[in-house]
Amino acid sequence: MIIDILTLFPEMFTSPLATSILKRAQEKELVEINTINIRDYALDKHKQADDYPYGGGAGMVLKPDVVTRAINNHNKDEAYLVFLSPQGKVLNQNKVISLSKKDHLILLCGHYEGVDERVLELVDEEISIGDYILTGGEIPALVIVDAVVRLLDGVLGHASSALEESFNNSLLEYPQYTRPVTFENKTVPEVLTSGHHENIRLWRKKQSLLNTFLKRPDLLIGREYDEEEKSLLLEIIFNQE
Ligand code: SAM
Repeated sequence: MIIDILTLFPEMFTSPLATSILKRAQEKELVEINTINIRDYALDKHKQADDYPYGGGAGMVLKPDVVTRAINNHNKDEAYLVFLSPQGKVLNQNKVISLSKKDHLILLCGHYEGVDERVLELVDEEISIGDYILTGGEIPALVIVDAVVRLLDGVLGHASSALEESFNNSLLEYPQYTRPVTFENKTVPEVLTSGHHENIRLWRKKQSLLNTFLKRPDLLIGREYDEEEKSLLLEIIFNQE
């Protein structure tokens, strides 16, 4: 997969892309991530990439000619073009999964007051990372890069770990524990140290259902339950071990 990030501030990506899993994924050539400075596509001697908004008002707007040139220069193979915007659909794990299946993503980061509206005609999708306003699209772009890259084949050490995480199958993940077995008088649930794989699987499924019900009941609305889940739910309701 190729991810091109169009931004006025490529330096905001330097450290995150050179750290931990994102770094390793690039070293293993599982993904190629390029940060491209939009300003490089300004033709005037001052490299002006933004200008005052027509009609007045605070802030600056990214110029359509400069941004379009930057996009066209990297969109030779019909890449999927995402504009990070608070006006877009709010990102969720299903959207991350669908983005992870694209061969080539271009992430366009707005800054200041945003981007000239005429550029949006080129955009395949506007994506928001939540109902609040950030200064630019750089942090939202990093959110997408991080969430997408960890789903690519070969990126995570354990193939199953991405499958068992929160939001899979509309459930939150079960609680996790590590050594020591007892910490400040609190002991790891016995089943996890039993070595009984089937009991561990059932315990985790039950805890997932309970976690989701207590923390994010909205995820369960309209969800269908299989027979095993139904019987685990009955155990939860009637508190049977
Ligand atoms: N004036 C714009 C509005 O009210 O819709 C907000 C501009 S914001 C200060 C500057 C840029 O930050 C946006 O163009 C967008 O790229 C990015 N941005 C801000 N909040 C965001 C969010 N919640 N999700 C994704 N991108 C966001």
